[in-house]
This record gives sequence, C-alpha cells and structure tokens, in this order.
Amino acid sequence: MAGPLSATATAEAVVDLDAIARNTALLAGRTTARLMAVVKADGFGHGLVPVARTALAHGASWLGVTSCAEALQLRAAGVTAPILSWLHGHDEDFRAVVAAGVELSVASPEHLQAIAATGTCRTGPVAVHLKVDTGLSRNGAAIHDWPELVRWAGKLAADGQVEVRGVWSHLATADTPDRASVARQVRTFEEAIGYARAAGLDPALCHLANSAAILDLPGTHYDLVRAGVALYGIEPVPGRASGLRPAMTLRARAVLTKRVPPGTGVSYGYEYVTPRAGTLLLVPLGFADGVPRGAGGRAEVWFADGRHPIAGRIAMDQFVVDVGDLPARPGDEVVVFGPGDRGEPTVTDWARWAGTNPHEILTGIGGRVPRRYLPAGRSWTDRSESCA
Ligand SMILES: *Cc1c(COP(=O)(O)O)cnc(C)c1O
Repeated sequence: MAGPLSATATAEAVVDLDAIARNTALLAGRTTARLMAVVKADGFGHGLVPVARTALAHGASWLGVTSCAEALQLRAAGVTAPILSWLHGHDEDFRAVVAAGVELSVASPEHLQAIAATGTCRTGPVAVHLKVDTGLSRNGAAIHDWPELVRWAGKLAADGQVEVRGVWSHLATADTPDRASVARQVRTFEEAIGYARAAGLDPALCHLANSAAILDLPGTHYDLVRAGVALYGIEPVPGRASGLRPAMTLRARAVLTKRVPPGTGVSYGYEYVTPRAGTLLLVPLGFADGVPRGAGGRAEVWFADGRHPIAGRIAMDQFVVDVGDLPARPGDEVVVFGPGDRGEPTVTDWARWAGTNPHEILTGIGGRVPRRYLPAGRSWTDRSESCA
C-alpha cells in the first residue's frame, strides 16, 4: 500500500486517486443518470481539486460544493465542468460565481431575487436549482412555501433573469431500512416537480439520490445522482460490500520508542496502565490532526503485523501505542487507518470507536497532515505493494 513514507514526513495522509477513479466508475455503472461528485469540505478531506479532476475523468460529469469559495477554487484550477453550490445566505455576493458559470441552489424567494439581480447581459440568466424540503427539515423550501418559490421562479424565468435548471432535494433516510419513509419523501418530491411544471418551469435535472440511494434505491435516481462518501470508498450502509475501496491511508513514523516496566501509567490521567513490561511507541498525530480523542480506550492502530491498542488518552499532537514485546525503533511506521487489506483499522472502525460516522473522521483530518497523492490508472496489483 502506497510505498514507504516520504523521506521528510513524520505523518501523512496518502490519497489513492486510483481508488477514487474506480469508485467513481463503479457508481456511474450503478445508474443511468448523470453522476455528480460531491467534493465539498475539501473533497471530504482528500483534496478538492485532485478529487474533482479524478472523478471527472472517470464517469462524473458534475461537481457539488457548498460554498462560493469552493466553486471558485475549482474554476481557478481550470475545472470547467458544471458545478452546483448549495449552501448560501441570500445576501452573499454572487457576482463572481455567476460570472464563473457556477449554478446555485435556491430555497427562498429572497434568495432567488438576490441571485436574479446578479445576472448581467454578459452572463445571461442565472442558472438555479430550486431546492424543496422533502422531509429532512434542513435546507430546501417547505412544501407549503414551494408554490410561492416556483411562482417567483416562473416570473423571473419569463423575464429572462433566471433559468431553472434543476429541482432537487436530499433524502433523510436513504441509509436506513425505512422504505416507507423514503416512499413518502419521493411522493413529496414528485409533488414538488408537479408544481414546478404547472408554474411553466421545465427543469432538465431533477435530483434526489445520495451515495446510499445510488447503491440501494434506483427509483430515486431521476436525471442526476450525487455521490459523496461512496466516492471516497466508504460503504454508505455499514456492513455492505459494494466493492468500494477506501481512498485514504493515515500513517506516521514513531518519533520515540521506550521500554517500560509493568504498571506504568501512560498519558494524561493514567487511563492506561501497562499490564506487563512492554515497548511504547510515540506517534506524532493527535486530535488537532483529526484523530478523535473520544476513541481513546477502544482505538487500535496497525504496527508490524498486527493491531495494537492506543495506550491512554489521545493528546492534541500525539498518542502512544503499546506494542508489547515487538521490536520497535524510532522511524518505524504506524498505520492509523487504511483500506483494510492487511487487517489494519479502517475509517469505519475509527468512526465506530469514536461514536461518529466515517464522514466526520475523513473531513476532520487536519490541514497540518500533508496529503500525498497516488495517481489514478495504476493496476490493482500495484497497490498491494507493502509499506516496507
Ligand atoms: C453531502 C451531500 C451529499 C453527499 O451525500 P453522501 O451521503 O455522502 O453521498 C449529497 N447531497 C447533499 C445535498 C449533500 O449535502
């Protein structure tokens, strides 16, 4: 996996772009709709631009982000694919994104009017995707406010100020077995599309499905599907095996090793006491790097040929591993998580230990950890090369 740690790094996140390429192709193969790669939050921590380029080269035709800054960063990198950005205050300055051809999600008449005012003769009508709340009760117009939103959209479209490219929503329960709830959300979505058509709108792109729905709910695919976590190789429904491959490996070199007697308290508060004489490894990654402090007491890492417990509290910048009687030297490698090929912990294991979801672990890996990219296009056999 990924060859040796780079000579200068004591810790790094290795991003396997080939895994992202294959996950993209796998997801594209599960639908007849177009595929949007959701690259918000710095590509779920994997790197906005490298993930976007890889996904676009392997089956995605759209990119999804939540902010103007992310959309503009993609454009500045030369990415010309369609981009939808979806989390905005109505009083943001939209001129730059509109000029850059970024499409915007809109959930209220105030927001729609503010965006419409941004269009110029040069940019033409501003492309928007109207968002309806189908039951998540988060973003999107409530269904009772929807008729007013589509009325406004119809008027501004007739005036040539906006073009309604999409009608969309987000499922609340795609990753649960509650199909009755999904059916209710789909009915509300259909109702919303009906209102939009009745208002004279003809959205080319209706979209509802996220990762779990791409894999499990083909009836929700419509014209476009939005893949987030699955793109990065995480099974959206834990326990499934869809053939996705985790793209990130977090690893570090031990910076210090020491032999200690039985009964040695380790890290703040002595929550771990060595059960026998053993060797402790000091690993330079901590909660400031996104290694969740709350996983202490349960979490394990990979060293030599096996999993070993993190000893005591995870600190801001470092944690300690008890490797017992294994030989260990400073510079030896510890894998915090990886694809799991050798039995090393995965992001999904860490999420369970920390009482959270894999998304939070991935997006939490801090900016202090350098990313190193393995290119797309390598063969499967290359990647089982060991960490020597
Ligand atoms: C983050 C996000 C997604 C991606 O969801 P996954 O479950 O990670 O695939 C899709 N749509 C919206 C609106 C989102 O905010």
